[in-house]
Amino acid sequence: MSNFADMKEILFATHNRNKAREVAALLGDGYRVVTLDEKGIDKETEEDGETLKDNALKKAREAHEASGIACFADDTGLIVDSLGGRPGVMTARYAGEACDPDANIRKLLGEMEGKADRRARFKTIVALVEGDGKEHIFEGVCEGQITAVRQGNGGFGYDPVFAPEGYEGKTFAELSMEEKNKISHRGRAMRALIEWLRERAEK
Ligand code: IMP
Repeated sequence: MSNFADMKEILFATHNRNKAREVAALLGDGYRVVTLDEKGIDKETEEDGETLKDNALKKAREAHEASGIACFADDTGLIVDSLGGRPGVMTARYAGEACDPDANIRKLLGEMEGKADRRARFKTIVALVEGDGKEHIFEGVCEGQITAVRQGNGGFGYDPVFAPEGYEGKTFAELSMEEKNKISHRGRAMRALIEWLRERAEK
């Protein structure tokens, strides 16, 4: 299946080329991953769903409608037990519409002040809409704790305050990208999608 003409094109409903490159590298032969920009689609999906699944499906459906080819999209949330599951679907705009990671962390640490139960998890939902419109959902979860203060300089978003289980209190921001990808919510959800696509390509 290495003939370029045999490759199935699949659209990742994102404007983030790095995310798309990562998935393309994992997929190898059989599929060619393209982004919204590469397809000339500039529509931004409004992420107004009540759940991560609603938002991932909405992004994948709109991209499928615009392109007519198989599409997938992801949506991620941070779920904190002692905050009743917040920020959850509001993770990106927890401190307001600006998606400011520094303000989001400040708000989270403020709300967690004095809380003994610091359990939390990142969850990624990947929604796939096949060319013929059939829909599939893949999920990845990473369990951990919210730290009391920021630790580390790597990563992005909430990485400096999320310590994954089994890493001696180190945060995502203190792990290498390879270490993080092995255990992360997004890595797990994407690998579930990729496994499914690979099996499909072999048929
Ligand atoms: P998105 O669905 O990938 O846009 O992510 C939603 C929100 O979760 C954004 O605020 C991201 O910064 C945050 N987020 C997603 N993945 C991670 C991660 O791996 N580490 C830290 N923050 C993340």
